Amino acid sequence: MAKKVARKQSKRNANKTKPVKKAAATAKAKKAAPAKARGVAVALHPAIDNGFPKTAKRGFGGGRLVCNCASDAVVVELKSQTAHNHACGCTKCWKPEGAILSIVAVVPSDKVVVLKNGHKLKVVDPNAVILRHACTGCGVHLYGPVEREGHPFKGLSFVHTELSKESGWSPPTFAAFVSSVIESGVPPSRMPAIRKRLKDLGLEPYDCLSPALMDYLASEAAKKSGAYREK
Ligand SMILES: [Zn+2]
Ligand SMILES: [Zn+2]
Repeated sequence: MAKKVARKQSKRNANKTKPVKKAAATAKAKKAAPAKARGVAVALHPAIDNGFPKTAKRGFGGGRLVCNCASDAVVVELKSQTAHNHACGCTKCWKPEGAILSIVAVVPSDKVVVLKNGHKLKVVDPNAVILRHACTGCGVHLYGPVEREGHPFKGLSFVHTELSKESGWSPPTFAAFVSSVIESGVPPSRMPAIRKRLKDLGLEPYDCLSPALMDYLASEAAKKSGAYREK
């Protein structure tokens, strides 16, 4: 037991020192993440490792996301609360240095306004469904709209509310694409511990999206094909 507490303590300290280091070494840091996390119990992401509020602030109406650049930071305003916040194990979502998973939510794209230094933003992959707008200075993704015609998520933008100083955002409620962390270099042998940790945090791990979102996507596909049966 004492050992466990000590471990927890060292993890807490490790997380405390993290933001001091600038997120400059991006690709390198991503590769180093699994090894780094091995010493501590199971570090997944600084925003959830030490617990997090389980409910959103009532009436919370949005806030500002700021990239990690020390000067001329990109500032994006979200004029709404987020929805479907979750941990994501895919290789494409932005995550801070050392994190195994990203934390990502959605807002209506018409609630996203670039306030400052939008000229620094560049779409990471123009062919992806999510058009992730990354800061060319620090690599942080500020927002990622889905604009593809006919896609069920069209009109939504993916965002990382950890980039905001405001508290009250919708908390993560599940973990998506968990198996994909193996593609980022996490040893497959660590998966049981990672899934257990996610469950302990109240984030049910899935290897695609949550059942609710998968049902939604399938319903949209069924409506298109004519197979949809429900009044
Ligand atoms: Zn930046
Ligand atoms: Zn993702």
